[in-house]
Amino acid sequence: MGAALTPLKPGSTVGILGGGQLGRMLALAASRLGLKTHVYADEAGSACAVTNHATIAPFDDLDRLRAFADTVDVVTYEFENVPLQAVHVVSQRVPVRPGARALEVSQERLAEKRYIAGLGIPVAPFAPVSATEDFAAALAVTGTPAILKTCRLGYDGKGQVRVASPDELGAAFEAVGGLPCVLEGRIAFRSEVSVLLVRGLDGSVAFYDLPRNEHDNGILCRSTVPSGLPQAELAAARAIGAAIAEGIDYVGVLAAELFWTGDPARPLVVNEIAPRVHNSGHWTMDACWVSQFENHIRAIAGWPLGSTDRHSDAVMENLIGPEIGRWHELAALPATALHVYDKGEAPAGRKMGHFNRLSRRSEG
Ligand code: AMP
Repeated sequence: MGAALTPLKPGSTVGILGGGQLGRMLALAASRLGLKTHVYADEAGSACAVTNHATIAPFDDLDRLRAFADTVDVVTYEFENVPLQAVHVVSQRVPVRPGARALEVSQERLAEKRYIAGLGIPVAPFAPVSATEDFAAALAVTGTPAILKTCRLGYDGKGQVRVASPDELGAAFEAVGGLPCVLEGRIAFRSEVSVLLVRGLDGSVAFYDLPRNEHDNGILCRSTVPSGLPQAELAAARAIGAAIAEGIDYVGVLAAELFWTGDPARPLVVNEIAPRVHNSGHWTMDACWVSQFENHIRAIAGWPLGSTDRHSDAVMENLIGPEIGRWHELAALPATALHVYDKGEAPAGRKMGHFNRLSRRSEG
């Protein structure tokens, strides 16, 4: 086994860039395997309460980043908007998995769409819009209805405006502050699903069952497994996920959000990818032998991947904002696993926790 493939021994330290709930659940999973964690975040988040070490410093503080890198054996990230420069600085001292390439293709919507389309995988018709002069050409590609999305820093439906007819594009562009955007044709879908896979350091790939995802105001509210997607589509979705991961020599858990159209000519269309553990995979914590969080840690630590098999059916629901007030009622429900992120303030739209309702496994 080459040095790069030598698995990290228990007692080693995993560095995590980002300190939100995904970092928290990664740190908890690492701890179960006897690995320590060091979180680097620009503000104290919910991961800080459960990690061995935390550095709270800006992502452009290169000295603090180097000092952080010197205390850890491998580094991962829990959000895709980590500045690339931070990853480059850290990766000069310690392996970063998944690497910078995964960030490059997921931080910028145009780069992401071009990468996926370049693999021959369907995406919504898209065109760049960075000035009013681009409107006519973009609309000619996408038609309407369409959605205008900022190229950077959009998530949970933020930085997106619906465009029902061509004359609405001007107001939409103003609403996003005239930032560089992608105009995307609106896909008429039957349902949204996501492919969740884990790719090991040796290139082995394992898939979780696909969840069907429902959104409210652009924010995921519910994931249901099994998804009800036909078998042929399940296989096609996995092939799409594998191609995306292999094309960037990805290591760790990757999620690809897909629209299922039901159109035989183009049944699956990729919406976006996340180079990290994903909210639509939270059901794996209680319905699978090994969760997405543990499998991500295993992959980046060079361990054998754990089973992705599902022993139960599951419905995951997010607790958003004040919904976290239901904790007492949910804690009393049978076959329900409650996860609270300990974030304190619960403003509207903030992900505060989730719960997984389990039932006997069905096929599908
Ligand atoms: P995103 O932030 O790109 O994941 O978008 C948030 C949600 O908006 C998606 O989960 C969809 O429900 C919806 N959406 C985004 N893009 C499209 C599209 N091209 N066609 C139809 N619905 C979309």
